[in-house]
Amino acid sequence: MAAARAERRERPGAYTVELLRKSGLLGGSGEFRVHELAITESIVESVTQRLPDARVVCVRLAIGRLSGVSVPSVEFCFGPATEDTGLAGARLVVDEPAGRMRCRACAAEFASDDLFAVCDCGSMDVDVIAGQELLIRAVEVRGHV
Ligand SMILES: [Zn+2]
Repeated sequence: MAAARAERRERPGAYTVELLRKSGLLGGSGEFRVHELAITESIVESVTQRLPDARVVCVRLAIGRLSGVSVPSVEFCFGPATEDTGLAGARLVVDEPAGRMRCRACAAEFASDDLFAVCDCGSMDVDVIAGQELLIRAVEVRGHV
């Protein structure tokens, strides 16, 4: 655990939210769940790398209900993760997009916040079309230092 953290610090940016999302690690199926502290740290890293001199006052995230990420945990980790960064004291706003599925059998679309989704036609062969996102939607800054 400590070794993994040290390695990540040596290679800033190697562990971005975008990468996590693309890799499918945040797919919500639970077989490989990244801890919320690591997610929160990668969000903070992502913002500080793109806005190194900014004083951030608000960060708005989208954490889909099917993302497998616990919003209360991210909210809990945000304060400690932002200490001694440009995000210290920033407000965190989290949108939680609902899950949405499309049935491959009958093409119907329906809402579901459960990965165990069954279409009205009886098929479980469904694609998730919304609700798995983990995105930084907006960053509000108070001018550059
Ligand atoms: Zn169907």
